[in-house]
Amino acid sequence: MNTLYRSTRETASHTMTASQAVLQGLTPDGGLFVPVELPQANFDFDQLATMSYQEVAYEVLKLFFTDYTPAELHACIDAAYGSQFDDPQIAPVTKHGQQYYLELFHGPTIAFKDLALQILPHLMTVAAKKNQLDAEIVILAATSGDTGKAAMAGFADVDQTKIVVFYPKDGVSAIQKQQMVTQTGANTHVIAINGNFDEAQTKVKELLNDQQLHTELAAHQLQFSSANSINIGRLFPQVAYYVYTYAQLIKQGQIKNGDTINFSVPTGNFGDILAGYYAKQLGTPIHKLVCASNRNNVLTDFFNTGTYDKNRDFHLTSSPSMDILVSSNLERLIFYLTGSDPVATANLMHDLQTKGSYTISSEMRTNLQDFWAGFVTEHQDQDEIHHLNHTHHYTIDPHTAVASEVAKQYRAATKDTRPMVVVSTASPYKFPQAVLSAITGTPSTLDGLAAVDQLHELINVPIPAAVTSLREAPVRHRDSAEVDQMATAIKKILNLN
Ligand SMILES: *Cc1c(COP(=O)(O)O)cnc(C)c1O
Repeated sequence: MNTLYRSTRETASHTMTASQAVLQGLTPDGGLFVPVELPQANFDFDQLATMSYQEVAYEVLKLFFTDYTPAELHACIDAAYGSQFDDPQIAPVTKHGQQYYLELFHGPTIAFKDLALQILPHLMTVAAKKNQLDAEIVILAATSGDTGKAAMAGFADVDQTKIVVFYPKDGVSAIQKQQMVTQTGANTHVIAINGNFDEAQTKVKELLNDQQLHTELAAHQLQFSSANSINIGRLFPQVAYYVYTYAQLIKQGQIKNGDTINFSVPTGNFGDILAGYYAKQLGTPIHKLVCASNRNNVLTDFFNTGTYDKNRDFHLTSSPSMDILVSSNLERLIFYLTGSDPVATANLMHDLQTKGSYTISSEMRTNLQDFWAGFVTEHQDQDEIHHLNHTHHYTIDPHTAVASEVAKQYRAATKDTRPMVVVSTASPYKFPQAVLSAITGTPSTLDGLAAVDQLHELINVPIPAAVTSLREAPVRHRDSAEVDQMATAIKKILNLN
């Protein structure tokens, strides 16, 4: 079967192949690409249980990227999930206390975005060849920390691409800043912005839509693209680790083929948990997807009331990658809740844009039973890190702790005793200050590598190479710019004048 893609906001007259959708990212009407028809999977989990991560990923990706040849997909997968991961299982599943932990932080930037951003550049360059695009692809990204670094790690030295990342000078952690300025790769460019993340993000969006700039780029055989989490080249590779987890639990003898399990997912942009929803649609025996939020609990309210309302205070938390008030991938779920109705979807998204809120119909709400939602306070988050460390000698990061704690809320509220898998999205060494404070019970004054060393003494878990390599890595990026000079900075990098 050939899987084609359509917009969530337009009647399905325009369709695209997977490779075209990967290149384009967003649909021309501002909607998101979804498969015209969901692929048929017929997974044999007993067989998947004998497979490696790479083999399972192939079984999943071939359903979505049907205009890629088997050889092309294998090449993308091998390039993405290799020795840059410090665990040959890529996504190991472990058990601590009553819950399982799916560790998605063994990649080069020790956070789960590697699972998507290690493969996206390869899906993109294959797509460019397939569609006779000769231009060099220029990725623009604004980052509050994790995404920009993971994108650079993915695109570094990938042929026919360049990447330019802007980060707020005083808006990222010490470790994140060090990761950013030491990034290797002749095609990577990093610029510190005298402004906050929102300003940088707004400017990047503006530049990506600037027609004059596009024309200038085209004259030099260059084309902008984005590594945004709405790209199907990021979304669908994430389905693989849900399928892999189920197969691994069979292999470990924890479940029998056919048993249903739950996942608890620390959620920001709704990309990770949406991949779980697709895994369920493809036949993975998942009972509930628990949507876990921090104090920015706009999704908790949405699932519990049917109203999405971003008009609220924004909180900075110790799980910064989830400090989000507009979860862009939620539009895809909305589309399915409407029964794949692009007009209804477009209307709700219009409400979001004009009023900052929308309410779904009671009929749509009845289709939400695949999900359960909850949130945690900062205090509960710290407590959960402390509890797991002291009781089970397992240390989790503040994002994972959100999901771990909400999973317990779910169990207490529902008495559901199915196996619960907490999706672990970052290494504790990525947020050492918050983790140290939680474990010791007193706010840590150490940050950066000093905090890493202190944490290492306490938990005795090997420090990942991604962190140790920072000690000697030379600073390669020193540029900074004002927000209104971002366009000039890009032109300079690209030699456009
Ligand atoms: C991005 C991120 C999340 C949120 O994932 P979404 O797909 O945006 O919901 C959670 N934890 C960490 C560590 C992240 O980097």
